[in-house]
Amino acid sequence: MTTAQACPCGSGKTLADCCDRYHRGEAAHTPETLMRSRYSAFVLNLTDYLRETWAAGSRPDSLPPDETTRWVRLDILDHGEQDDTGWVQFRATFLEGRRWGVLEEASRFVREGGRWFYLDGRPTVTRLKPGRNAPCPCGSGRKFKSCCGAG
Ligand SMILES: [Zn+2]
Ligand SMILES: [Zn+2]
Repeated sequence: MTTAQACPCGSGKTLADCCDRYHRGEAAHTPETLMRSRYSAFVLNLTDYLRETWAAGSRPDSLPPDETTRWVRLDILDHGEQDDTGWVQFRATFLEGRRWGVLEEASRFVREGGRWFYLDGRPTVTRLKPGRNAPCPCGSGRKFKSCCGAG
């Protein structure tokens, strides 16, 4: 993947004009921006960035790369901030092999030293069984059978 391609977070911008700058160290201004850049980091398997943007108190000691989950779509449902705390509710659609799932989470964020960090969240995972004529879960707007469900 190059930075001239569409950003994985679904913003409609290129990766260069969107999440890449945060992956390179620029501070994300809002919890939503940080959430998008973290989602893109999951897509691109940037585990160092994921750890660096985790609040110190809840940061995992190590974060092994996940080669089996393919994240295909992000929907931000709600987000906001008050003083140094923030929240983002999102839905992330993924594929594990040929199995579809949706992870929905209300994430909490904290601002420390002027930077936002991911604190924690309560994820719920729902399995999807897209019908052949249903809209494709990847968000392409096409039918499943003529998109990710083809072949
Ligand atoms: Zn982005
Ligand atoms: Zn699709």
